[in-house]
Amino acid sequence: MALELDSITVRYGQTAAVSDVSLSVADGEVVALLGPSGCGKSTLLRTVAGLEKPASGAVRWDCADLAGVPVHRREFGLVFQDGQLFPHRTVAGNVAFGLRMQKVEREARDKRVLSLLELVGLEGYADRRVTQLSGGEQQRVALARALAPSPRLLLLDEPLSALDRALREQLAVDLARLLREAATTALVVTHDHDEAFTLADRVAIMSRGRIVQVGPPAEVWSSPVDVETAKFLGCNKFVPGSFVGLDVERVGLRATALRVDPDGLMEGTVLERVHRRDHVRLLVEIGGEEYEAVGPMSEIGDRVRLEIDLDGVARIG
Ligand code: ADP
Repeated sequence: MALELDSITVRYGQTAAVSDVSLSVADGEVVALLGPSGCGKSTLLRTVAGLEKPASGAVRWDCADLAGVPVHRREFGLVFQDGQLFPHRTVAGNVAFGLRMQKVEREARDKRVLSLLELVGLEGYADRRVTQLSGGEQQRVALARALAPSPRLLLLDEPLSALDRALREQLAVDLARLLREAATTALVVTHDHDEAFTLADRVAIMSRGRIVQVGPPAEVWSSPVDVETAKFLGCNKFVPGSFVGLDVERVGLRATALRVDPDGLMEGTVLERVHRRDHVRLLVEIGGEEYEAVGPMSEIGDRVRLEIDLDGVARIG
């Protein structure tokens, strides 16, 4: 096991920002810490980096305790939300920074910088000023800079959240590919479940300083451990499993769980309709309860039949 967190608690004064967290990251694995703002994700990441000291518990790398090892000796790469590039240096100057610290000689350094710029899709940008780059390009430079010294672990704190939505989706896909190509071991902090599921081999869900669930994205998505986690993962209605034909006590429904379909087994009355980016969202009354459903366009008051889409249904527990 490459990284091992053993019962980590981190306090700010009396308050525990992280409580008794244990988690491991295997060699070459990408794990996402996912949870709402304030749940302790960054604090945990900063503790791994050596920027915070745990009140109790241990951070280990290949079984060696890192308690006495300062940030710059941990051989971990760091990428933050706003890349924190050196504004007075060129792209190449930024990417070469860690290599210069390691006293890598010029020729090898230049070669490594060029190969990293290629990896992050910025060939030909070496001599640009970083102040002339877009937000997305700056984050690519930050990533190349962090990867340059071949860190044994990459720590990413909301690396894409300063970017606008379309760019974020694209960069998440690029970043996932890039982490795999470079066989990087990484811990990524994000509050965005799409981003976590795009990037990670396993997702650790945090709530109020604790990890409440860890698993592969598909498993966490389809079987959240409790109602709070299910709500965070997009479920907005909770019903007995029998409602959707499943032999489980309770399920959570996402907005896509019910679809208008003439062959559907349920029937309801349209109460409201909202146009979304690529579909129509309906509010439908079934047996005195309100449910969200996916269109096509219907008139308010219409009777519609509804089919269940199990991709939109999460089993709780
Ligand atoms: P997240 O990354 O999930 O948004 P953080 O780890 O930043 O959460 O914060 C966890 C909790 O610790 C929050 O309640 C936050 O207010 C508190 N916290 C974070 N940093 C500090 C600090 N330097 N001093 C005091 N409290 C802090």
